[in-house]
Amino acid sequence: TKELDVFAIRKQFPALNRQVKGQPLVYFDNAATTQKPQVVIDALVDYYTNYNANVHRGIHTLAEEATAAFEASRDAAQRFINASSREEIIFTRGTTEGINLVAYSWGRKNINAGDEIIITEMEHHSNIVPWQMLCEEKGAVLKVIPQQDGELLLDEYKKLLSSKTKLVSVVHVSNALGTVNPVSAIIQLAHQAGALVMVDGAQSTVHLDIDVQAMDCDFFAFSSHKVYGPTGIGVLYGKKHLLEAMPPFQGGGEMIKEVTLEKTTFNDLPYKFEAGTPNIGDAVVLKAALDFVTRIGKEKVRNHEIELLAYATEQLVQLPGVRIIGTAATKVSVVSFVIDKIHPQDIGILLDNRGIAVRTGHHCAQPLMHCFGIPGTIRASFAMYNTKEEVDQLIVGLQKAIKMLL
Ligand code: PMP
Repeated sequence: TKELDVFAIRKQFPALNRQVKGQPLVYFDNAATTQKPQVVIDALVDYYTNYNANVHRGIHTLAEEATAAFEASRDAAQRFINASSREEIIFTRGTTEGINLVAYSWGRKNINAGDEIIITEMEHHSNIVPWQMLCEEKGAVLKVIPQQDGELLLDEYKKLLSSKTKLVSVVHVSNALGTVNPVSAIIQLAHQAGALVMVDGAQSTVHLDIDVQAMDCDFFAFSSHKVYGPTGIGVLYGKKHLLEAMPPFQGGGEMIKEVTLEKTTFNDLPYKFEAGTPNIGDAVVLKAALDFVTRIGKEKVRNHEIELLAYATEQLVQLPGVRIIGTAATKVSVVSFVIDKIHPQDIGILLDNRGIAVRTGHHCAQPLMHCFGIPGTIRASFAMYNTKEEVDQLIVGLQKAIKMLL
């Protein structure tokens, strides 16, 4: 069938059974992190119960089992984003570490005084600050693609591109607004100008079909915890020839081939970038999460979430004083809004009293909030387990809050 069986899905997420302030939990903070299905929780318990061991070094059975599971997870991640080889999949702590790895390793080798890096006005702080630090250190220049009503202005982007542009780093889906950015067009234009492109896939990987080869991005980063997996693990994809030419990010065990006290030769990809004992447990469990999403089917989930988004948006605009922030034509799963004369945080507290979890504030995108002339928004973000009935509860909660606060 084409329809998502939301009832069956909800049964797989134990957190959805809990009560908050005496009411059933309504969890609309999925862009911050998703709840975890039982298969993911079970996989973590299974790892620590049955085959916890350090990877790659041991010849005993537990070490072999842990290594096999760890590497199977890398293969799962490779398939999930359609990378052409497993050496292109580097385990990280998450999107933030993936971007920082590129900024430190590729950036410090390839960026020089006068070079230019382009980001956009709708970046998460984790795709702003590493580039600011790099530019400051190197005397390079950070340029910014402007947006209007939550859509990037591609004509302005074209004007920014030149032979000085070395890298474009762009968010695939905005966490604050839900906008899906035209990354393929952005990448094509950057490549024509001779620049590389890093895509921040923190928000897109759970909703969209990701094919890094078709997209032709040079680097792509995502976090497991936003794809129904555990925190503390993520993936950096990089094109093999780029990763091969990059110096290591950190030095230590695992990333070496041979060490003498005078000189070290570095390990092959991907291990060159995985110094030290990795987060084995969470890496292993990432596979359970990705397999879970694939089994349910991203397209089905997407259709369901689009329906929820349309339903929520339709009702929200009918509430007094509500203004949606970011009205891009292509959005996924996120609705951000403000209410006249009411502080977002007051709404957040009153909704929590009804068991409804939303995010309020600047969503780690202060420059974007500044563009809209607001300190922050109220954000509801949807996942596969959310229902129209829950949206109805949000609307009732908002109606009551508005009445109380105005
Ligand atoms: N980029 C975007 C668009 C995000 O939404 C987030 C998480 N809020 C990040 C980067 C950073 O991800 P993490 O905190 O998992 O490293």
